[in-house]
Amino acid sequence: MNTAHTLRRCIHCGTKAVKPRKGIGRTICYRTMPCMQIPNDILVPTCGRCKSEYLDEESVGILAPSLQTVYLQSLRTRTRIAIDILSKHTSQRRLERVLGLSQGYLSRLRAGSGNPSPELTSHLAILCHDPPTRLMELERFWALPDEEWPPLEMPQTRFRKRLSHGDRNTNKKLTNNE
Ligand SMILES: [Zn+2]
Repeated sequence: MNTAHTLRRCIHCGTKAVKPRKGIGRTICYRTMPCMQIPNDILVPTCGRCKSEYLDEESVGILAPSLQTVYLQSLRTRTRIAIDILSKHTSQRRLERVLGLSQGYLSRLRAGSGNPSPELTSHLAILCHDPPTRLMELERFWALPDEEWPPLEMPQTRFRKRLSHGDRNTNKKLTNNE
């Protein structure tokens, strides 16, 4: 495997020293993550001289299963941490209800079974930024009638006053002109 003929020429330094190598501190833009960590033991075509990495279409294709594994592991880890944080502020059942999840789903994810979607992980992440406030906002959001959402960016009392006067378009125009 390590014989000279398996080495490719590096387009950056011209040395014939590119072969799959382990490495530290490497990242890749993968799905939702602009800088996903590549595990040290994953082999990436790299120049032995100038250390240029060749994460081209071909090598990413070969790495795809490993990268997907890393990605799913990251989603599971982040979801578990988020559930632990949010559980201090609300019950898992209540959290499942406002997120539209089936009962027990978060417990299963917390236990490490199943893969959370990036969408769910995103929602949990945003809720974690300020759990009491975000959870209250979400509950209020679901409690609102359709025509009262989205709330206009103005004080609540004025918004309500104008809403009772006329249609939403007028309200929006007034807001934009301010
Ligand atoms: Zn090179």
